[in-house]
Amino acid sequence: MKKRQLFFISLIVIILLFALGCYFFFSSRQPGREALPSVNDIPRYEIEGEFFPDSGVFSGKEMVYYKNNEGEPLKELFFHIYPNAFNKKETAPFTAEEFELAYPEGFSWGGIAITKVLLDGVPAVFKTEGTILAVNLNGELNPDREVKVYIEFKIKLPKSPGRFGYFKDTYNFGNWYPILCVYDKEGWHKDPYYKIGDPFYSDIAYYNFTLYAPSEYILATTGEIVEQKEERGKKKWVVKTGPVRDFAFVMSKEFKIKEAYAGKTRVISYYFKEDEENGKKALEAARKAINYFSEAFGPYIYSTYSVVAADFYMGGMEYPNLVLIDRNLYKDGLMLEYVIAHETAHQWWYGMVGNDEIKEPWLDEAVTEYSTILYFEKHYGKRQGSEIYENFILNPYKFYQMARNTGPIMRHLSEFNDWREYDAAVYKKGAIMLKELEKRISKPKMIKALNVYYHRNFLRNSTVEEFIRAINDTTGTDFRELIFKMLREEKELNLAA
Ligand SMILES: [Zn+2]
Repeated sequence: MKKRQLFFISLIVIILLFALGCYFFFSSRQPGREALPSVNDIPRYEIEGEFFPDSGVFSGKEMVYYKNNEGEPLKELFFHIYPNAFNKKETAPFTAEEFELAYPEGFSWGGIAITKVLLDGVPAVFKTEGTILAVNLNGELNPDREVKVYIEFKIKLPKSPGRFGYFKDTYNFGNWYPILCVYDKEGWHKDPYYKIGDPFYSDIAYYNFTLYAPSEYILATTGEIVEQKEERGKKKWVVKTGPVRDFAFVMSKEFKIKEAYAGKTRVISYYFKEDEENGKKALEAARKAINYFSEAFGPYIYSTYSVVAADFYMGGMEYPNLVLIDRNLYKDGLMLEYVIAHETAHQWWYGMVGNDEIKEPWLDEAVTEYSTILYFEKHYGKRQGSEIYENFILNPYKFYQMARNTGPIMRHLSEFNDWREYDAAVYKKGAIMLKELEKRISKPKMIKALNVYYHRNFLRNSTVEEFIRAINDTTGTDFRELIFKMLREEKELNLAA
């Protein structure tokens, strides 16, 4: 009897231990552990098209399944058609100083033509104005009602090594298709394509993408390639994504590929043959960054992450599951690692936790810069981490500040005069502010607060208020006044000893 009871108790203990083990195993391992939105609750894009590299033309059609979750009736739907910014020199999203970098061979025309719009299969009334496409909903679309918007379009890439364009070896498709504007309590956000910053704001959606292109091309893309075959004398790719806030892809005939796993995520490095050594280094940095940020902030929920060397003069650029990296950075290992850590941190701050990058650009950029320093401290130790902080953030800030005052961190994109001022105020001063906060609340608490911030705003758009709430709730202290004081400080921040 005793024995049996003991056996019974042991059995319960074993079962409990097993259950606990399973819980910890799955909660820490599974990238898909976070609750994901159902396909019916967020927009779904089905995009199909053919790319003609010789002319730089992409001919496509897009079906958007949209359910009105905005809580009030809508009369119109608005889409960004960013390629239209590339129509004219005056509206091209480049400042005068960077014009030559953006167009090394002179201005090159790019754009988008919307050729047909259907609403639930019926021709719709639509209008394009600048970078906005307005689709009339034929009366009102009530809350919880769904509509299918079909858009046919042709885009032309400019000869430009930017987010949207082509140059020597790569065709960069960033911000290229009609994407829904965000509707929130301020109404529709129909911001133009500003020349400074990453002037984007979008909601989470699912994407299916089917692409036809000449067979010799290699595709790097947001999401996962689920099918690849020869068809009609071309290559056909089928891509599916998880819940992401944008969709980008890059094509090249010259890509070399290396891959590795970070947990269940396939990390892929696309590089050019002359950069084999740093192509490997890029892969390793990306893998380490995905692992570290997942552990610190919360899981990277996607099955792929691609780091793509490109003809891209802007350094690095984040898109969901894919980052563009200037191929010239593959000449300098440390700078390359810095930019990759930065762009990878954006998968959390911009990607999984979004924000209005026009109204509050500091919110993703400063937190991303701060996370980049955390990455270096983690992998190279405190001393080298501090050196990186000084060399990449503190000293460049001081240097800028000697010549001109940066002004406050927290500003709308339209309030910056040029890239250097934007960089000094948003990235550098923004990261310095977060380091100051860290001095006051401790590094473990900062990381914990970012973890709380991630989980609360997972797949949503966040604001400064959410950021402050995460800090306050983690520390049990009200830092609101201090944070706003630093964000609004015109002059240099008062640094604690
Ligand atoms: Zn950034």
